[in-house]
Amino acid sequence: MDNDLRLDGNAAGGLLNEVFPFEMTTAETTCGGCGTMKLIGELMLYGHRMGAVLRCANCDMALIRITHIRGSYWLDLSGTRCLRIAADN
Ligand SMILES: [Zn+2]
Repeated sequence: MDNDLRLDGNAAGGLLNEVFPFEMTTAETTCGGCGTMKLIGELMLYGHRMGAVLRCANCDMALIRITHIRGSYWLDLSGTRCLRIAADN
């Protein structure tokens, strides 16, 4: 983990936009561990060569793991209790 890069969740916007066709940094997550609600852009981002881990800023639980490997995106949302994405209409 020493070589991992820690940023805020806004830095994951480009990677998330490779998977989702809308702005994800303004989507709201509810932490499955402590129940804290935050925008994805407010989460703590731990990046590495193949992807990223977005962690709760309150309890450090991994909420979103995204990896791009061998031509596929792998998305693990198991730490997220709920994800709210605003609709345009
Ligand atoms: Zn939490």
